[in-house]
Amino acid sequence: MTTTKLSLDEIYNLAFTSLTKNGCDEYNAEAVSTTVKHAERDGSVSHGLFRIPGYIASLKSKKVKADARPTSTFLTQNVIRVDGDYGFAPTAIKVGIPNLVDTTNKHGVGVLTITNTHHFAALWHETEALAENNLIGIACTAYKPSVAPAGAKKPLFGTNPISFAWPRKNNTPVVYDMATSTMAMGEVQVAARDGHKVPYGTGLNKDGEKTDDPSQIANGGVLLTFGDYKGSAIAMMIELLAAGLVGDLFSFEAKEEDNNDGGPARGGEFIMALSPKLIAGNNWNEHAESFFEKMTSLDGVRLPGTRRHNNRNNDGPREINTSLVEKINSLI
Ligand code: NDP
Repeated sequence: MTTTKLSLDEIYNLAFTSLTKNGCDEYNAEAVSTTVKHAERDGSVSHGLFRIPGYIASLKSKKVKADARPTSTFLTQNVIRVDGDYGFAPTAIKVGIPNLVDTTNKHGVGVLTITNTHHFAALWHETEALAENNLIGIACTAYKPSVAPAGAKKPLFGTNPISFAWPRKNNTPVVYDMATSTMAMGEVQVAARDGHKVPYGTGLNKDGEKTDDPSQIANGGVLLTFGDYKGSAIAMMIELLAAGLVGDLFSFEAKEEDNNDGGPARGGEFIMALSPKLIAGNNWNEHAESFFEKMTSLDGVRLPGTRRHNNRNNDGPREINTSLVEKINSLI
């Protein structure tokens, strides 16, 4: 794979220019480009610039509103709904997080439901934003079906990611962010693009047989959930939280509505915040640190999130797939 060196500012500018040149207003382009830049900074490459052609396709088809203005409403004292106004999710998240932080600091628990948005990014952006405010964050979202429930050969679930962030004083939070499929479809697409195999059993081909060929999974095949029926139960829970509870589309409904332009389908997101200070008391940090010490003293253990946070320490240029850079430039 040939790569091109781009600084973090160049990554931001490439994203911002490509979005605004395709009709996105600066308010929304700023939110999306920041998410893209942070993804590249942390090495979340399947959710950085790789997503720009899809974002642009959804602007061109007008599926996504280029000048969306999400609005925030309190449903109860600690349940907030942000209506995304049919725009990109990073804008809706940016609008909702400050209210979620405030209400969780008052009440110990807060819920943010996001509706009418198009989510195409990693979820650690939102859970880490809560952890940076000393809150625990949990987020999940559903997507168009590409994953078979346990026992099935046909898709019903999205890759349905879930992220959890635990805040740490004087340290980066402990964060996991994972698809409930064996792999995220973005990673499968990157593997197909780069000519790599995926582990056998990652998914089924169009005939319902297990395969290690990512292009067979991405084109007419189906992904499987991690951990067989256990992962399937978590993927089901995410459908219920991010669609049933939030009041937005289940994965199968998102597919029925979507115009298949290659950009993100419409859907909702469920975000919950918890205050360890109000729930556990003042000693919460030291207590959890003793647990992390025990955990990391075991040979071979690393805390989730560490890889990204280590990448973040490097503020130098990133190696970006040259054909991707050329593709984005051709769309400007
Ligand atoms: P990975 O399997 O790469 O990683 C999942 C998590 O496990 C990460 O938090 C990672 O931390 C952690 N981890 C990995 N290896 C270890 C290890 N050896 N020890 C401890 N922790 C480890 O992620 P996925 O491929 O499942 O998902 C990739 C991204 O795709 C996610 O960000 C997800 O939000 C996004 N996604 C978004 C969708 C959407 O609709 N918007 C749909 C589906 C997925 P670390 O980062 O430090 O390696």
